[in-house]
Amino acid sequence: MTNHFDEQNLLDHWQQVNHQVMEACTNAKGRENGGVDLLAVSKTKPAEMIAFLAKQGQRDFGENYLQEALEKIKALQKRAEATHIVWHYIGHIQRNKTRDIAENFDWVQTVERDIIAKRLHNQRPDDLAPLNVLIQVNIDNEDSKSGCLPEALPELVATIMEYERLQLRGLMIIPAQADTDAFARTKQLFDDIKKVHPELRAWDTLSMGMSGDMTAAIAHGATMVRVGSAIFGARN
Ligand SMILES: *Cc1c(COP(=O)(O)O)cnc(C)c1O
Repeated sequence: MTNHFDEQNLLDHWQQVNHQVMEACTNAKGRENGGVDLLAVSKTKPAEMIAFLAKQGQRDFGENYLQEALEKIKALQKRAEATHIVWHYIGHIQRNKTRDIAENFDWVQTVERDIIAKRLHNQRPDDLAPLNVLIQVNIDNEDSKSGCLPEALPELVATIMEYERLQLRGLMIIPAQADTDAFARTKQLFDDIKKVHPELRAWDTLSMGMSGDMTAAIAHGATMVRVGSAIFGARN
């Protein structure tokens, strides 16, 4: 990772993505501007790029690779322009990595089974706010994919609700490319859970849509899009 990058180029792309998100909100019937959060996915990109965007006002950053993420979080901890950053873990979670995630992140979007949720709950430090959690749903029932199967979702929701060191916020998906209907089905799941559990007051986040499909995801009810390459350029 080199720290040299073209600031104007990064700024242009970030502004374009912000514009695209705003336009998608305006076009989606009944959505208001500002109803969608932009998660800047900074995996493989240097801490200096993150610091630069944070200074422009970007708040949410997503990381996939734990070791790399921890180094960047540490490097940015004492930087004035980075104090407002909200860190999201969006990579696959191995059992032996839960402590680092619980201690260093504000959100985790890839919880898919109880054993992981339970460990995050037990390991979240008491002096930190509850860890915000999204359940990753394997919306296409793909063998190769991470995520909780839709039919197992009600039980996992009920379990995680009991963990007071976790704050259950909603769902996250990475749909198969050919599945044009995945956004709508996930929105339905999201609304159904809200109906069954009105006591879930913080159930407010539907994380779907990436660089190539953020507009479609917003049209179908996404409240957070996770965008990497359209902001930072191609990954090496
Ligand atoms: C890498 C990644 C993204 C961003 O993908 P782009 O196509 O570069 O926007 C979003 N979500 C997850 C879970 C990712 O791993």
